[in-house]
Amino acid sequence: MPVKVETYDRTEDAARALSASRSARFLSGGTLVMRAVNEADQSFETIIRLRDASFRDIRIEGENLVLGAGVTMAAIVAHRDLAFLAPVARVIGGPAIRNMATVGGNLFAASPYGDFTAALLALGATLNLAGQSGRGMPIDEFLRDRDRNAGVLVQSISVARPRDASAFRFAKVSRVKPKGVSVMSIAAFLPQSGGRITGARVAYGAMAPTPIRATAVERILEGQTLDAATIERAAAAATEGFDPPTDSLASSWYRREVAGVHLKRLLTAERR
Ligand SMILES: Cc1cc2nc3c(=O)[nH]c(=O)nc-3n(C[C@H](O)[C@H](O)[C@H](O)COP(=O)(O)OP(=O)(O)OC[C@H]3O[C@@H](n4cnc5c(N)ncnc54)[C@H](O)[C@@H]3O)c2cc1C
Repeated sequence: MPVKVETYDRTEDAARALSASRSARFLSGGTLVMRAVNEADQSFETIIRLRDASFRDIRIEGENLVLGAGVTMAAIVAHRDLAFLAPVARVIGGPAIRNMATVGGNLFAASPYGDFTAALLALGATLNLAGQSGRGMPIDEFLRDRDRNAGVLVQSISVARPRDASAFRFAKVSRVKPKGVSVMSIAAFLPQSGGRITGARVAYGAMAPTPIRATAVERILEGQTLDAATIERAAAAATEGFDPPTDSLASSWYRREVAGVHLKRLLTAERR
């Protein structure tokens, strides 16, 4: 089946075309869409492209960081104000993938992909959707029912820059280093006030169909100091409420077995 390509100059026109057809896909970096084309995926007939340069902008707006949805992983690694996110972008694929793969595309990537999205979830990002001015959509809300959002065009992603960059931690667990796909990724945002954690957010990639928050872990960490006893309790609750997937990288059983170990390493900032 031939695939039709439609190219737009204005974001709102691309958004309208995308929402009008269930058989359309938006082409961002194309690392997944073009793979699907090459594999003769029959689930879409139209590719929507956008030629708006602002789609790739990175802006600092006061306390907030605004990433155009078309910003690539390589652009994040290269940006001096995004040093806290560089370790996340740096472990996504190899150099060729990072040059193409975008932040927006990562939001829609099926598990076990979605490492960057797990980080955005821990940071409590907000998605700005094309053609919908006003309130942005919290990333938690977007991911809760991601399939229903297949026809929306994400324009940009806003995230508050951590006051203390060390409050944000990220680890990717993979069998092949440095560029293997995730057995799991873990992102934690643990701001402290008076030595106690306030507003803990912990998210996993590859532990559910979309990146997901580890709410049991968050409850244990909230209001605590990051001491050995708290870390033990958090590690013991690492998979509470989770039914991790089995895929070619790891079984559900394996993901369950190792999640606590990796969470503990992240919380103790142990280097591997
Ligand atoms: C070899 C290889 C290794 C990889 N390694 C990793 C990895 O380590 N970690 C990881 O997380 N991922 C990995 N990926 C997956 C993928 O490259 C990334 O998830 C990437 O961020 C997807 O972005 P993209 O711009 O290429 O998406 P595209 O292929 O352009 O699009 C993917 C999907 O998202 C939709 N989409 C894209 N942008 C938008 C938007 N702005 N609004 C609405 N819908 C949109 C598209 O319609 C499509 O359905 C890998 C892929 C390959 C091929």
